[in-house]
Amino acid sequence: MTATTELAREIVTQPRTVERVVAGMPTSDGAGVKLTRVLTQSLQRRLDPYLMLDAFGTDDPQDYIGGFPSHPHRGFETITYMIAGRMRHRDSAGHEGLLQNGGVQWMTAGRGVVHSELPEQEDGRMEGFQLWLNLAAKDKMNAPWYRDIQSDTVPEFKTPEGVTVRVIAGASHGIAGAVQRETTQPLYLDLHFEAGSHFSQSLPAAHNAFVYVYRGELRVGDSPLPSQRMAILANGGDGVVLHADAPARALLVAGRPLNEPIVQHGPFVMNTKEEIFQAVQDSQAGRFERA
Ligand code: MN
Repeated sequence: MTATTELAREIVTQPRTVERVVAGMPTSDGAGVKLTRVLTQSLQRRLDPYLMLDAFGTDDPQDYIGGFPSHPHRGFETITYMIAGRMRHRDSAGHEGLLQNGGVQWMTAGRGVVHSELPEQEDGRMEGFQLWLNLAAKDKMNAPWYRDIQSDTVPEFKTPEGVTVRVIAGASHGIAGAVQRETTQPLYLDLHFEAGSHFSQSLPAAHNAFVYVYRGELRVGDSPLPSQRMAILANGGDGVVLHADAPARALLVAGRPLNEPIVQHGPFVMNTKEEIFQAVQDSQAGRFERA
């Protein structure tokens, strides 16, 4: 926790408005894991460089026990943020880690990994998020990269207005997050609001941004944002101001759009159909294991 006196102020004079509120789609993935796909494929262009946001949260082991057995990825990064529960990660690049309560796993698939994500609990609550962040064409075939960020190493501070901020990526109030990316400049904040608090964050006008409320509700200007809804923020202005009348928790995510073609086939996201065809061939030939 960083002392409040060291914090820089975020000055926002022209706050963004809500362009659209999205409910997400209930679905299942992996071996029958129930989740809500908040950022769906139809929003990839609008929310470039983000490709997907899944929210999962359940007390019923039947909803998560199968986990995500061995599967490949190529061409982007996966960021898993665990609020509650324990998940074991293993991949073909030799990385292994236990993701738990408040921890983050950042995996750059690059030219390819095969990995599994399996629960290490048979009962109790499992809750968290998986966000997919695209890689620029020039970076898609880079070597895989992986980092486990345990909860106590996620930079965290409390604003004078009463909001606890966990900085997963980017920077807020002068505090640098756990991960930085030069090309997509991701900002990924987990915000915990006290009743009657507000939070300001400056944002470059051209960066695409959204807010997902996972506890309580927020107001974005005059627009209410109910629980388990994503607000796509209109571009322009110089930032965003979020208000909470009662305790609430939300993710604020923004990034610099790549403005490149997006072609997705399941766990592969490339720029052309030919590159997708190559990814399928390489995967079937077992070449990802040696990536
Ligand atoms: Mn995966």
